[in-house]
Amino acid sequence: MNTKSSKIFIQDFMNYVKSKDPGQPEFHQAVKEVVETLADYLLDNPRYLHARILERMVEPERIIQFRVPWSDDRGNIHINRGYRIEMNSAIGPYKGGLRFHPTVNQSILKFLAFEQVLKNSLTSLPMGGGKGGSDFDPKNKSDNEVMRFCQSFMSELARHIGKYTDVPAGDIGVGGREIGFLFGQYKRIRNEFTGVLTGKGVEWGGSLIRPEATGYGTVYFAEEMLKTRNDSISGKIVAISGSGNVAQFAAEKVIELGGKVVTLSDSSGSIYDPDGIDSEKLAFVMELKNVHRGRIKEYADKYNIQYLNKKRPWSVKCDLALPCATENEINEEEAKMLTKNGCILVAEGANMPTTLEAVHHFLDSKILYGPAKAANAGGVAVSGLEMTQNSMRLAWSREEVDSKLHSIMVNIHKMCIQFGKEPDGYTNYVKGANIAGFVKVANSMMAQGLV
Ligand code: NDP
Repeated sequence: MNTKSSKIFIQDFMNYVKSKDPGQPEFHQAVKEVVETLADYLLDNPRYLHARILERMVEPERIIQFRVPWSDDRGNIHINRGYRIEMNSAIGPYKGGLRFHPTVNQSILKFLAFEQVLKNSLTSLPMGGGKGGSDFDPKNKSDNEVMRFCQSFMSELARHIGKYTDVPAGDIGVGGREIGFLFGQYKRIRNEFTGVLTGKGVEWGGSLIRPEATGYGTVYFAEEMLKTRNDSISGKIVAISGSGNVAQFAAEKVIELGGKVVTLSDSSGSIYDPDGIDSEKLAFVMELKNVHRGRIKEYADKYNIQYLNKKRPWSVKCDLALPCATENEINEEEAKMLTKNGCILVAEGANMPTTLEAVHHFLDSKILYGPAKAANAGGVAVSGLEMTQNSMRLAWSREEVDSKLHSIMVNIHKMCIQFGKEPDGYTNYVKGANIAGFVKVANSMMAQGLV
């Protein structure tokens, strides 16, 4: 029996992780959040400590880094860096998105891959965890430039992925257009039409509801959390950040369930529409973002409402907050502002949008706080369903996929309650998600021996 207190255990483990990979703050943050909530459980279950499961889980099974050369429309040559982190394959092939954003580096991809392992486990589908991407910035690039980049990126990545090995999907900067170019190049190189990527177009192997899945799933999860307090989304004022894939469909579902969405944002600023973003205005946002690739400020100009230049939306009064843009977009001060203004629920559409200090504030305030690996697992869950449909060579209807997505989110919520309920009746969803996700992966790793 290990007698170390959990505090010392956490400190020792974090020292170990930091000494192996100094200079990876996002990765340290993601690991710390998990270790903080797992420590007591591990100390009570020393078989995992003896097998050094946690030490194995923070070590990627494989990191692939490669050169991605491409030329722009004027013939200038650019060199980007490509990555794939194959983190853990204990419960299935590596699965996780590709991110194209100038901030991409090993620390960010390792944090995303580490969270992905636990998230995929929570979905109950057979998927390991991985993540990849490039420091390429698709903004202000022509379609041809994006295509040439994607072709160069896939020319190398194709050696490492496959439907039984590693199945990437989209993430920030990688949507339907990029998945199309990546898939085309994979098919050309390998001469095989397989479900090697998810998020494909519905005409060529994609699943209905995949574009909607992360946003819808986050709102389904929020609705389950509210039910525990005999409440619902109907009539609630909702602040959403981001205006990309996840934010758009989170907004669509909130509107459908009778909530009022009052904010959206992008990396330049936020819009505040106190009358609410209705379906018609949301259609404008989708056209603006997905077709014209414009800035959210144009919404403020068109509807003559307030634009918060270079600001995030958390100063606005709201009942529910759905961060759907990027990591660390709610700091402690913003978290305090949210609860002070009456916010009763935060459900994370984005990955690690909340700093650790802000997480502690939400938990100490005992509000409903749904961490990313539970709340946004709907995206990868429907990617898993896309893989199933590809293997079976059939396509399920919209209703069928949506109902499966809903059941998966309800089930994840149940698991969070099972492992996260505290003696005073409060559900710590962070603890619940981390332990539930960990147990399945850890048991599978133990069963498969020292590999
Ligand atoms: P998109 O590229 O479609 O949209 C990203 C949105 O976030 C844009 O509005 C973008 O603004 C904003 N954003 C990106 N970086 C920053 C930044 N540094 N500061 C402020 N705003 C920023 O990506 P997704 O909607 O797919 O992803 C959003 C989040 O959801 C990410 O954290 C992602 O990891 C997570 N996620 C996505 C899943 C999916 O299925 N797509 C699945 C699970 C999680 P701008 O246009 O100005 O850059």
